[in-house]
Amino acid sequence: MPTFPFSEADPIQHPGPPPKTSEVVIVGGGVIGVTTALFLAKRSIPVTLLEKGRVAAEQSSRNWGWIRKQGRDADELPIVIEACRLWRQLAEECGEDIGLNQTGVTYLANSDKDMVGFEEFMKIAAIHELDTRLLDTDETAQLIKGMSRKFKGALTTPSDMRAEPWLAVPALARLAVRKGAKIIENCAARTLEISAGKIKGVWTEAGYIEASSVLVAGGAWSSLFLRRHGVSIPQLSVRVTVAATEPMPEIYSGAAADDHIAFRRRQDGGYTLAGGGSHLLYLGPDAFRHATKYIPALRNDPFGARYFPFAPSGYPDGWSTRRYWAPNSKSPFESMRVLNPAPQPARLRAIERNFKQLFPQFDNVRLKAGWGGMIDAMPDVVPVVDQVRAVSGLFVATGMSGHGFGIGPGIGRVVSDLVQGNEIGHDLSRFRLSRFYDGSRVRLGPAL
Ligand SMILES: Cc1cc2nc3c(=O)[nH]c(=O)nc-3n(C[C@H](O)[C@H](O)[C@H](O)COP(=O)(O)OP(=O)(O)OC[C@H]3O[C@@H](n4cnc5c(N)ncnc54)[C@H](O)[C@@H]3O)c2cc1C
Repeated sequence: MPTFPFSEADPIQHPGPPPKTSEVVIVGGGVIGVTTALFLAKRSIPVTLLEKGRVAAEQSSRNWGWIRKQGRDADELPIVIEACRLWRQLAEECGEDIGLNQTGVTYLANSDKDMVGFEEFMKIAAIHELDTRLLDTDETAQLIKGMSRKFKGALTTPSDMRAEPWLAVPALARLAVRKGAKIIENCAARTLEISAGKIKGVWTEAGYIEASSVLVAGGAWSSLFLRRHGVSIPQLSVRVTVAATEPMPEIYSGAAADDHIAFRRRQDGGYTLAGGGSHLLYLGPDAFRHATKYIPALRNDPFGARYFPFAPSGYPDGWSTRRYWAPNSKSPFESMRVLNPAPQPARLRAIERNFKQLFPQFDNVRLKAGWGGMIDAMPDVVPVVDQVRAVSGLFVATGMSGHGFGIGPGIGRVVSDLVQGNEIGHDLSRFRLSRFYDGSRVRLGPAL
């Protein structure tokens, strides 16, 4: 069994070699690539997924495990509503316990300003007939008992869910394989083969795969991969720190957060914790290249970010990371099979302190683990889900901006139909790649 967080020391579950041809090749074995492969395989489309390290070893296992409709961008909501239905269906189909539970998501308000924001979301919730409710101070204290502070109120959606990401995404990958998808771990996609504006195939570290369609779902690496082919995506990496308590008595069965602390009940009886304002924005050449596009986001501070001037060596936007490589030479993707940032010790201490300040009765509970993750963020905090106009057969689904786990199966279903040229069933114009280049004003989605 792999240990958590997953690393390249874990055994390969999906060995090669890759096939010589495949109708569709997917670059990236996170929740987006895996669920797209699954839905294509269900339609009997030959599909091969390439993962440079291990399935779900990056963001898709390290996240908080929140599956929420609450607080979503209005244009994401129809897709995440579908995703919630799909999560239930896929949890049944995969026949493994992925820790899926409908236990609700709650945002806690410290100020009248927070409450005003919650009221704004109530308008969107009403349009989509969500079960989201506004709670007053007493109702909030009733919902989550034993909190040392009184909150102004809360926003809560009882139908929102949680799952264990490190169980869920590998289980969905196994389901995809049973349905006919090929998944190859430890196999980086190096470059695309493009001729006369059309996808012809993919060069991997283990040879060439002829393909008519390629989906790039490489998380934090998508921008580096596509830039090599002249496709520019303004994507930034934000490092976050997460902690897990040992098992403890239940304080709330769902997931909740205010500005200082986020907590989510886990299947093993512990809580997954994170802190507000704990994000560290990594600056590299791409960050500077796209800086002007991020001005509205940085003014609004959606990442609660501090800046780290040097993305470390080998990171997607590192100063020394190579931007050009040949199909037959080692690429940056093989040099870092798993992006595994260390958790920040100061953040871990702050997370523990904030949790225990809110629940002083659990002062004796200990943290049993801490880990880091790199969120891939877009300037408007909503993803890119699109066909690349200049290259026929090239698709991209990336920049999930810190909320791609919950919506993952919805995006996977949508992209599988996009690749097949089918009716999508949702309006994807908000997620078009050209929005960053066609003079559109940046329209910010909700903060992370
Ligand atoms: C700490 C943290 C907390 C979060 N909390 C939540 C939450 O509670 N709810 C929620 O909805 N979302 C959450 N998110 C966001 C969510 O985890 C991501 O949006 C989602 O997992 C992104 O999935 P992905 O498939 O796009 O990317 P990833 O999971 O990052 O997967 C991309 C994969 O592509 C592979 N790859 C890249 N380049 C290549 C290449 N050239 N060849 C082969 N493989 C390649 C990488 O190795 C990687 O495995 C959180 C994220 C973090 C980091």
